[in-house]
Amino acid sequence: MYEETTIAAIATSPGEGGIGIIRISGIDACCIADKIFQARGGKFAESTPYLMRFGHVVRGDKTIVDEGLAVFMKAPHSYTGEDVVEIQIHGSMEALRQTLALVLENGAVPAARGEFTKRAFLNGRLDLTQAEAVMDVIEAKGAAALSQAESHLSGKLSSFVHTCRDELTDLITKLEVTIDYPEEDLEDLTNEQMEEGLVTIQKSLADLLQRSEEGRIIKDGLRTAIVGRPNAGKSSLLNALLQEDRAIVTDIPGTTRDTIEESIKIGGVPLVLMDTAGLRETDNRVEQIGIERARASMEKADLILAVIDGSQPLTPDDRNLLSSLKGRNAIVILNKYDLPQETEIEDVRELSGNIPCIRLSAQYGSGMDDLKEELRKITGHQDADAGRELFLTNLRHVDLVKKSLASVERALESVRNGMPADCIVVDLTEAWTQMGAITGDTVDDELINGIFERFCVGK
Ligand code: GDP
Ligand code: ZN
Repeated sequence: MYEETTIAAIATSPGEGGIGIIRISGIDACCIADKIFQARGGKFAESTPYLMRFGHVVRGDKTIVDEGLAVFMKAPHSYTGEDVVEIQIHGSMEALRQTLALVLENGAVPAARGEFTKRAFLNGRLDLTQAEAVMDVIEAKGAAALSQAESHLSGKLSSFVHTCRDELTDLITKLEVTIDYPEEDLEDLTNEQMEEGLVTIQKSLADLLQRSEEGRIIKDGLRTAIVGRPNAGKSSLLNALLQEDRAIVTDIPGTTRDTIEESIKIGGVPLVLMDTAGLRETDNRVEQIGIERARASMEKADLILAVIDGSQPLTPDDRNLLSSLKGRNAIVILNKYDLPQETEIEDVRELSGNIPCIRLSAQYGSGMDDLKEELRKITGHQDADAGRELFLTNLRHVDLVKKSLASVERALESVRNGMPADCIVVDLTEAWTQMGAITGDTVDDELINGIFERFCVGK
């Protein structure tokens, strides 16, 4: 049985730090802590809950491991909903390991990945969206991602789901009445009312899905492809943006064959930069593979940085690249501005359909601020929307909302075609179940385990 074991783990991240925390949760948490933590001024087991105690972590022979603070959080008012003790000592991996070993010797078992949060879920402290948000908070790559994760953690997604399910329940109940008492026309639900109710649900699910695409960008970053023909200066630009020599820069055309991914933050939004092999028609098979990849990364990119060597006249490849940018989210970079320029901005504008164009020198850094300013215009728009409205940032949720929407749309079609009520009830019940799986009201153990296995130990 779950509640019978007491679990423990190092809760802070591995490595040296000012402090490190050992977390213990379960029925014996306090009693185990009492055996290894010698509190000043009286036994730890007699501590007032939520009050920090100063003391020492001691071995069986009374020798000291480290000094620190410990606090007892009494069930059900703790993170897991069980008795929890947290011991803070210095952030030394050795001291933390020894302390954890003592805790385990005294009867605790090592916590599995995410087990503290899983217990919180099983004890009803969090629903599944909130538990998943805990991990999103930990992994947040930028301010916008953090604010979305915090809003999920505070229950914004849960309450959306609950509202939606309540509306579905209401419609299902009314339909069932018409099935059970077909003769009586009580306050019989008219087809128009039914349709109206379903359209409302359909719209709110569809809106949520539309916004979730933005949610993905905020969480995972704007996928940015750096493209251009060999030697235009793609790797140099990547390095200038990263301000480090991470990608290899060379004079031989076609040497950047693999896609390299790095990420930078502009205006709180991460840009995932992909330096791709040159876009050029070629017979060389090895280079061909790189070029395929460049095309593929252009296709799935949210933003394209097209690099052109401004010190040379536009080549046919440059012209092809520029005209393929029409209507896309892109910036044209006329590189090598430190050299005499051969390319006219007007030509670039005309070919690309007025994509913003910037002259800069990736090698010497001039013009980089203009590029960052242009990037900020793009990310600023994403950032400003963050936090205000609810987004889905988790693929599992997106998938379930899509399925619910499909069921609602099937029901809507049945209503419009005058199908019998029981047929509509089937689809609505399906939508209701799918929505419930988001918050964890209708899920199986396997799914739950799968979700928590992605967590880190100690959380
Ligand atoms: P890639 O093949 O598009 O990735 O191009 P690289 O970044 O490897 O650069 C190719 C060559 O152009 C290297 O010799 C770079 O030093 C040079 N280069 C890149 N940017 C500039 C620049 O702004 N000015 C000048 N003069 N040379 C540059
Ligand atoms: Zn390169």
